[in-house]
Amino acid sequence: MSTSATTESTAFRSALEVIRGVEPRVADAIGQEIADQRESLKLIASENYASPAVLLAMGNWLSDKYAEGTIGRRFYAGCRNVDTVESLAVEHARAIFGASHAYVQPHSGIDANLVAFWAVLSQRVESPALQRAQVRHVNDLSEQDWATLRRELGDQRMLGMSLDAGGHLTHGFRPNISGKMFDQRSYGTDPATGLLDYEALRKTAREFRPLIIVAGYSAYPRLVNFRIMREIADEVGATLMVDMAHFAGLVAGKVLTGDFDPVPHAQIVTTTTHKSLRGPRGGMVLCDAELAEHVDRGCPMVLGGPLPHVMAAKAVALAEARQIDFHAYAQRIVDNAKALAEGLLRRGARLVTGGTDNHLVLLDVSGYGLTGRQAESALLDSGVVTNRNAIPQDPNGAWYTSGIRIGTPALTTRGLGAAEMDEIADLIDTVLQRTEPATAASGKPSKAQHLLDEAVSTQVARRAADLLSAFPLYPTVDLG
Ligand SMILES: *Cc1c(COP(=O)(O)O)cnc(C)c1O
Repeated sequence: MSTSATTESTAFRSALEVIRGVEPRVADAIGQEIADQRESLKLIASENYASPAVLLAMGNWLSDKYAEGTIGRRFYAGCRNVDTVESLAVEHARAIFGASHAYVQPHSGIDANLVAFWAVLSQRVESPALQRAQVRHVNDLSEQDWATLRRELGDQRMLGMSLDAGGHLTHGFRPNISGKMFDQRSYGTDPATGLLDYEALRKTAREFRPLIIVAGYSAYPRLVNFRIMREIADEVGATLMVDMAHFAGLVAGKVLTGDFDPVPHAQIVTTTTHKSLRGPRGGMVLCDAELAEHVDRGCPMVLGGPLPHVMAAKAVALAEARQIDFHAYAQRIVDNAKALAEGLLRRGARLVTGGTDNHLVLLDVSGYGLTGRQAESALLDSGVVTNRNAIPQDPNGAWYTSGIRIGTPALTTRGLGAAEMDEIADLIDTVLQRTEPATAASGKPSKAQHLLDEAVSTQVARRAADLLSAFPLYPTVDLG
């Protein structure tokens, strides 16, 4: 961030003035959003604060272009500037992650996963069918061969991490299209330790023989050994796909290396760009050379036109992530998560797996006699923003849950360090100690409502505000 405060303030002020001229309520909402974010103790593990350069790269004329196709091979004319920004994003992504191929068009994490699933299906199911029929294109298949191929595409197996162990909805769960596309089974964690159980996973993989094994998570606080995951995938003939949506920033910042860096081990890696990677809201796919042509068919397979303005912002964010300070940022995310975990443990809290190795902590709130939903609301009333999350074998299910997920990427961007993490642990523990379940109409303890003395929530909110006042958010942006 080398430009002067005045330049950034002027840029955002002018933009708001222009918007205000057309629909003042939108300008007000945008202005209110930065005010709200400045006041919020944001511990949501999947959120961050993108830089002014990333934000500004999204608001411009690149948004007006259709650019279906790939760099240099578009279905529309006049795409040279889109080619430039997409090439830059690809070049930075390949360099940061050491990937042989990068595809930066997916609009979100879920889109990146769909591109990846269909790339593997295209490589391993569709291509062999075309070869057998000795044709080059699906349009050249006979009606009968096409019907057979469609059935085959719909009859593949996938093995993904279970939701309550920290997996994601897009890893084969029925409400999501991935669960409708694939016959899915889950692997999970060892009930005794809360750690990923590789031997149980190996056993399930041997029995189930999936086409794809999906690794990666949204709520697992430990390292995943991707070398072992690849060994298991190879043994059963599966393609290893890693969804690093949450921890891509830790990979880019070289905190996760060797066995814990998914890129050298998986054939295909997907990510969001807006979580720990700190870019614009979007997705990305990295893959081996053999999968590249299949991944590049993401459009028209599951995507329409790419978002060129967002690809521009991805290029800017990835350029930032190539700078050496990003390594220090990634290390501080993990140091802060550890400090937060230690602070909670010292105060008697129970953490799933007993701690953390990454950017998040999963707090089991059943020890406080609360559901995740009650804990989440009580913390929110006190100015502490987290989200509820299921824990392994959660007795309260996926809606009420028994856990709170707490992440450090956003507050680390804001500059908070280990001392502040200890204070935050105290805020969280204070709120949860003083919160009780309300009584439902049936006379039983409610799973949804909670009771918390307003004096406590007000006092904690004041302490949270004090903590944040020393770490201004977007210090170079003054909207006046
Ligand atoms: C957040 C997340 C996604 C989805 O990302 P969106 O951009 O919200 O679609 C996919 N996979 C994992 C593991 C995630 O954590």
